[in-house]
Amino acid sequence: MNPPPATQTTLDDAAELFRKAKRVVVLTGAGVSTPSGIPDFRSEGSGLWSRDEPMEVASLSIFRRAPERFFNWFRPLASQIFDAQPNPAHTALAEFQFASRQNTIITQNIDGLHQKAGSKHVVEMHGTLSTLSCTQCYKKFPSKEYLKPFIENGLIPLCPNCNGILKPDVILFGEQLPQSAWQAAQRATHQCDLMLVAGSSLEVLPVAGLPIQALDHGAHLIVINNTTTYVNVRADIVITDNVATIIPKIIKRAIHG
Ligand SMILES: [Zn+2]
Repeated sequence: MNPPPATQTTLDDAAELFRKAKRVVVLTGAGVSTPSGIPDFRSEGSGLWSRDEPMEVASLSIFRRAPERFFNWFRPLASQIFDAQPNPAHTALAEFQFASRQNTIITQNIDGLHQKAGSKHVVEMHGTLSTLSCTQCYKKFPSKEYLKPFIENGLIPLCPNCNGILKPDVILFGEQLPQSAWQAAQRATHQCDLMLVAGSSLEVLPVAGLPIQALDHGAHLIVINNTTTYVNVRADIVITDNVATIIPKIIKRAIHG
């Protein structure tokens, strides 16, 4: 059974928290990208992959031992990301950032759709598909010109300088989170007075711990997700619904009253 839709009062209350907030942090997960056609490759039942497969294939050790296995697995996902467009959730968050004050987006997504929608100050906890790095000379390249031929003909992208394999700058299983991103995420979390968790089931540590850190620093918390999360009991407002429908309604109220 579907949960009842968010009432007008709930939406008004959420908008009021946005209006009053001086510094907002929005923490986004796979649920913000699924309305753009990008599957949640980490969770069960996404249709394209079994649960265990990504853990193995999208791992640093497979990338090092058998890069062609990684690239075979990665190709359909890269293709979906390459074609994806921001949805109303991305657009509304970008509008709010543009219209208002201090606002940071911390995302677990690698698709760059927040930036495509116009958002600035996006902290990418799991890296990004928008650049590739050479595994031998460490030079960084924009993905654009390498990704298309890879998606079309499956050829593994190689470094024009040294012929080393180019690795997408996404964080694979078994790989450390980027230190600078984690520090930026924590700083923003400790300084915010409102955190919105959107489209994340908060199952992947350490990012899943950020809402508790925000609460401990006195911030309000709103959770919008289509399944329940462990922080729901401590949130000011919980809306169990599709982020692409709900976020635009809240932001519209917050900006225009
Ligand atoms: Zn190189």
